[in-house]
Amino acid sequence: MSGLTSTTVHHLYIRPGDLLPACGVTPGPDRDPCIPDWHTGHALSVLLAVAADGAACCTLCLELAETMS
Ligand SMILES: [Zn+2]
Repeated sequence: MSGLTSTTVHHLYIRPGDLLPACGVTPGPDRDPCIPDWHTGHALSVLLAVAADGAACCTLCLELAETMS
């Protein structure tokens, strides 16, 4: 497959200042170089807004965010 595009995957930071999202994924580029996804984390309200916008979100983090909201 050609034309791989980088997707930003959004995760949840449960507390401000957390270094790792709720699911434990390391923020930044994916460890697999064949998957050019970029992982980033947000506070609860921001993640829900991003998800409502239709962006790619981590299923685990999103489920947790919806439980917490
Ligand atoms: Zn996540």
